[in-house]
Amino acid sequence: EAKASGRDQVKFFNPMMQASLSARAAVETELHEALKHEQFILLYQPQVGCEGRLLGAEALVRWQHPRDGLVSPAVFIPVAESTGQILMLGRWILHTACLQLVAWQGKPEYAGLVLSVNVSARQFHHPDFVSEVLRTLDETGADPTHLGLELTETLLADDIDNLIAKMKALKARGVRFSLDDFGTGYSSLSYLKRLPLDQLKIDQSFVRDLLVDPNDTAIVRTILALGESLDLEVMAEGVETIEQRDALLNLGCRRQQGYFFGYPGPPEALLDGRANAR
Ligand code: C2E
Ligand code: MG
Ligand code: MG
Ligand code: MG
Repeated sequence: EAKASGRDQVKFFNPMMQASLSARAAVETELHEALKHEQFILLYQPQVGCEGRLLGAEALVRWQHPRDGLVSPAVFIPVAESTGQILMLGRWILHTACLQLVAWQGKPEYAGLVLSVNVSARQFHHPDFVSEVLRTLDETGADPTHLGLELTETLLADDIDNLIAKMKALKARGVRFSLDDFGTGYSSLSYLKRLPLDQLKIDQSFVRDLLVDPNDTAIVRTILALGESLDLEVMAEGVETIEQRDALLNLGCRRQQGYFFGYPGPPEALLDGRANAR
């Protein structure tokens, strides 16, 4: 019996594993081409504050695949992470975001915006990360106080002292830090206390069922209280409906991001959406 089920397992799992393996290999090869030919674009999603005022935007990368069209980062970021290609891609993302910041700095209606850029764990842990960010800021002329970096809790699994030292080096120049997808990962409160963060981003999973699941209300309330006591801003992600927006406002969460305010889009569209509605 065990033998039979062992054989079945092989028969059953092998084709699937094979398919995902070759897809991964294909993605790696094609990413190599994509990096060479700059097939990536950044989209910008509005982040709003009091009364829908535009506070800034999050830069979200897309792959303009010559055959498949726009590819989601959920597909290629994990592959790029595991192959190390995230280092080259991450440099391109940061450079492009900084150029966008410089373009905004020249326009009064965009001048105060903070642009948040996602940074993956492998990218952040690279020994040259800090010097590369500083060099990119210098080369582009972007104002460091208008650049935010979004980190995830996976970073906290590694050398925390090194992480803090790197954050402090960038903070010394005015760069801001958010902890993304907060509540889904590894944060312990003792780490959270030590990290020189500016903002917690409530993961969208807690916003999704906010109106139907009282546990999510309790979690959001707890994160807001934590933000208050640690003196951190709190931003909710994944706000899709007016009901979710209002529920968050009632809980005291004014900083919000989600499809309700605007989809990720080209930089010119940032001021078009509801984010700018009065
Ligand atoms: P994230 O940083 O947590 O980004 C939020 C994701 O939620 C984005 O998906 C965004 O398009 C989506 N989103 C925004 N508002 C809503 C909403 O109201 N409802 C729903 N259901 N979704 C919403 P996206 O752009 O597909 O990115 C997925 C993830 O890929 C990001 O999660 C981030 O972890 C990663 N990623 C995206 N761009 C970059 C990048 O430039 N560098 C790195 N390292 N990672 C990136
Ligand atoms: Mg993010
Ligand atoms: Mg997130
Ligand atoms: Mg995420």
